[in-house]
Amino acid sequence: MARRFSRSFTQQEPLSEAAIEAAVAVLRHGRLHRYNLTEGEAGEVALLEEAFAAFTGARFALAVASGGYALATALRALQVAPGEPVLTNAFTLAPVPGAIASLGARPVLAEVTPDLVIDLGHLEARIAGTGARVLLLSHMRGHICDMDRLMAICDGAGVAVIEDCAHTMGAAWNGVASGRHGAMACYSTQTYKHLNSGEGGLLISDDPELMARAILLSGSYMMYPRHRAAPGPEHFEGLLAELPNVSGRMDALRAAILRPQLTELPDRVARWAELYRALEAGLRGCPGIALIERPAAERFVGSSFQFRLPGWPPERIADFLGRTAARGVELKWFGAERPQGFTSRYVHWGYAASEPLPQTDRVLAGLIDLRLPLTFSPADCHEIAAIVVEEIVADRA
Ligand SMILES: *Cc1c(COP(=O)(O)O)cnc(C)c1O
Repeated sequence: MARRFSRSFTQQEPLSEAAIEAAVAVLRHGRLHRYNLTEGEAGEVALLEEAFAAFTGARFALAVASGGYALATALRALQVAPGEPVLTNAFTLAPVPGAIASLGARPVLAEVTPDLVIDLGHLEARIAGTGARVLLLSHMRGHICDMDRLMAICDGAGVAVIEDCAHTMGAAWNGVASGRHGAMACYSTQTYKHLNSGEGGLLISDDPELMARAILLSGSYMMYPRHRAAPGPEHFEGLLAELPNVSGRMDALRAAILRPQLTELPDRVARWAELYRALEAGLRGCPGIALIERPAAERFVGSSFQFRLPGWPPERIADFLGRTAARGVELKWFGAERPQGFTSRYVHWGYAASEPLPQTDRVLAGLIDLRLPLTFSPADCHEIAAIVVEEIVADRA
């Protein structure tokens, strides 16, 4: 009998006792709204913002209701207008073009390379062809492009960069934390990301005007002086009448369970690296597979793993996925005709109508993706790799 893998690809670790205690304390006092504070109390949300600003090295931070909300808020803070073209990469998750579409703006997609990062040559052509002034750059599945070159291109063309760091919280390029290159950066604390509060998002920036805009947009009323990792009141006064309240605050309960997790993040990053390298070692050398080589300048978080099956016809991939699934190994495929689970690709986003992107089509047609929850051990990763290799070898027999 062939071995079967029996663990769940979607089971997260339980929250630590420190997080549970912090949550219970909030439940006991009942002040769950971020601005519901007693005399002298900073509040969990403001403390989380302060801790996250310190963690990333940013001047300012704002906690919000979701990662997608953070993306739309960053676009609004940059005053993206309806109909305006906004650049993004074609390989990303649906909430990214969704955030652009939520403002009535127009997503303009740039090709992805076989290494799963934005194609910088195509980006330059897109900037020249559309005159776009904003790039929403998604570090999809944690793959970071050459950020030095990207920033040189965007700075040279006057294009503001918003970084989508949903998969790069804790990562870095050339020693600079992911999210510290662009004008603003957005993070998600949704269950499948690097910190888990069920739903939630964070936004950072060094720019006082952009952050004052984001805070007012999030629904701060006249409470903005209660923020700590925020610009001074003089940055808000002139904006009060101008900005709509697009309510999307974070609450004290979620902030309470996130704060201890932020302390745990470096340890998580180290454990993810172990899992990633174990799986990679098990797959290396397998015929028919193309691994994604990680550049030396990239410090990545191995919370998911991708490999390609270049040139495989779709029926052959579908058959392989059926056989691995039957052995308990849940692989996702970006080339499926219809979107499945969380996995969709640009041709499925009717609201982001794009001209064909042949290079992206080629890459995504053979792209396989799997999650590496921290409930897995390196031995689990060896077992997953062994099953994948066996089924690929069986296919070629
Ligand atoms: C999850 C995710 C988002 C959105 O985050 P939510 O908190 O789920 O709204 C944005 N971009 C990418 C790449 C993501 O994976």
